Amino acid sequence: MIKLNDLYFKPFISEAEIDTAVQRMVDEIANDFKDDVPVFIGILNGSFMFVSDFVKKYPKPCEVTFIKLASYEGIKSSEDIQRLIGLTQDLTGRKVIILEDIIDSGNTLEEVHRIFENENVGELRIATLFYKPEAYKKDFKLHYVGLEIPNKFIVGYGLDYNGLGRDLPEIYQLKTTQHMTNLVLFGPPGAGKGTQAEFLKDKYNLVHISTGDVFRYNIKNETALGMLAKSFMDKGELVPDQVTIDMLSAEVEKNSDAKGFIFDGFPRTNAQAEALDKLMDSKDSQINAMIALEVDDEVLVGRLLERGKTSGRKDDADESIIRNRITEYYKKTAILKDYYSAQDKYFGVDGVGSISEITKRLNAVIDKL
Ligand code: AMP
Repeated sequence: MIKLNDLYFKPFISEAEIDTAVQRMVDEIANDFKDDVPVFIGILNGSFMFVSDFVKKYPKPCEVTFIKLASYEGIKSSEDIQRLIGLTQDLTGRKVIILEDIIDSGNTLEEVHRIFENENVGELRIATLFYKPEAYKKDFKLHYVGLEIPNKFIVGYGLDYNGLGRDLPEIYQLKTTQHMTNLVLFGPPGAGKGTQAEFLKDKYNLVHISTGDVFRYNIKNETALGMLAKSFMDKGELVPDQVTIDMLSAEVEKNSDAKGFIFDGFPRTNAQAEALDKLMDSKDSQINAMIALEVDDEVLVGRLLERGKTSGRKDDADESIIRNRITEYYKKTAILKDYYSAQDKYFGVDGVGSISEITKRLNAVIDKL
């Protein structure tokens, strides 16, 4: 991933793929023009790299020149295109091939056609390395297309975002979700995840999602999801994966402008961890760290029984249910330490001490990320 000005971009089309596409265009055009000496006209600035690579590969004599148009401001194609540097040579009767880096709305292309209307060229053909069919609004024929791409903003290989990125030898695509920090707060029941998440979400401006809280909210409101979850929760068992994953995804979608998330109580199984990775991937993002609060079992039981006196939670009131929750944790959830360790994303933090001491320990880990 790279950052240009204020935006993040991810790798999209490699140098090798570009090279293959350019070579294919060269072969097609050389085959069509046989022994004619064509005039290749690049549209500056974006096409400079493409034109350079193209003509180096072109196997026969050719002429090369450029015209310059202002085609867009920022990342949007603008309606207002101006010809800045025009043609100086006589093209009467010549075979002209426009070499464009990219055609999206087709506004630039319209301007090109207008420029060439009175030039009396023998033939005018259009070749573009990249083409966005979903964005194209004109009827002009595109004679040669290198690669069709989706309607997303790209940079690199001559194309820029506010001046940067033209020098990159490959193509990058704008990330749809801008940079997020996503944390999994981990640990057995009673480790203090909920308490600490409250501090962290304010300090780092993150959205806190506690799957336990969402289930309890649904139970309170007697929704279908709540009714389903209740039977498992009351016994201290895990709610089935698919139900939990669907609910979590919906919570993430509700916060589409979040700067990142603290996941508390999720994932609790391997299947959930894999689903979370997929969900983050679909947002062009990832889990940055799993931060685990480490606390001994007997301390946990004591804390939960104490909390049960006031929390009103059925699963906090009974020692055998509490022990079952801890057993579920070791049976199904604790293995996730390996899942995140394998990606170098696991950070253990001592979860015994005062609330503020533990917050400081967590801050120290997050600040280093
Ligand atoms: P918690 O508030 O995190 O202690 O969760 C309370 C209960 O909600 C758990 O014992 C489970 O029954 C259920 N639950 C919460 N999160 C999940 C999850 N990720 N997967 C399955 N069940 C969950």
